[in-house]
Amino acid sequence: FSERIDGKGSRGDLRQLSININQMLDRIEVLMNGVRQVSDNIAHDLRTPLTRLRNRLSELYNETACPDAQGEVAALIEEADGLLGTFSALLRITQVESGNRRSGFADIDLCTLVSDVIELYEPLAQDKDQQLETGMAKVGAFHGDRNLLFQAVANLVDNAIKYTPEGGRVFVGLSVEPAAFKISVADSGVGIPAGDKEKVFQRFFRVESSRGKQPGNGLGLSLVQAVVRLHEGEISLEDNHPGLRVVIRLPRDTTPVV
Ligand code: ADP
Repeated sequence: FSERIDGKGSRGDLRQLSININQMLDRIEVLMNGVRQVSDNIAHDLRTPLTRLRNRLSELYNETACPDAQGEVAALIEEADGLLGTFSALLRITQVESGNRRSGFADIDLCTLVSDVIELYEPLAQDKDQQLETGMAKVGAFHGDRNLLFQAVANLVDNAIKYTPEGGRVFVGLSVEPAAFKISVADSGVGIPAGDKEKVFQRFFRVESSRGKQPGNGLGLSLVQAVVRLHEGEISLEDNHPGLRVVIRLPRDTTPVV
């Protein structure tokens, strides 16, 4: 090909190559969607029998008097709960990505939303002797899905506390820019290596150093990204020296003029 590229017909070859690449990319996208669909179907199909199994384990736990057996059953219940949590998160992401949740949009107060998240996580931060602080500007109403945005901000605060050692600091900011409402969650924790910053939004991806050390399923940031996209916003990860700052920008032009 490199010989022919300088000769006659090279433009035609290039055009053909670009067509082939585009066809390949389309095919990969179709395959990836297929893989996602299969994993969603599996999650959906397994949820009911797993719930039944979990309930039966819980009955067994109550029926058994032997502490050793109780310990084993308790460990199985914990595993079943972990799997059920993963399935639910996976299905929620698909639901959000399918985009038909816009029907749940209403005018919401982001200040109250952020305050509610802080209130929820205050005890967890206290347990780790961390300072959980907030700085909020008064912002107008934002048109969006409150439950999903609450879940997204909660996931970020949960991560910030989880990946920050005892005695650290977590700061949640809310401000207004000309084109966007900006929510930022900054921590003084371990941060994310530059090479992993794009990957952490992929389903199930976890940074090597957190695997086995911290609980998690690698789906939290995928949901956050899906929620931000549903609101036509943007999400970025910045270094916080030390730690991580996650910034979400929600476009103000989707807000009705009041
Ligand atoms: P989970 O926390 O359940 O593993 P997430 O999708 O929320 O899944 O995050 C993906 C990965 O990104 C985490 O496993 C962790 O390695 C990294 N990560 C997320 N938030 C932070 C943070 N605030 N500080 C450091 N690493 C983080």
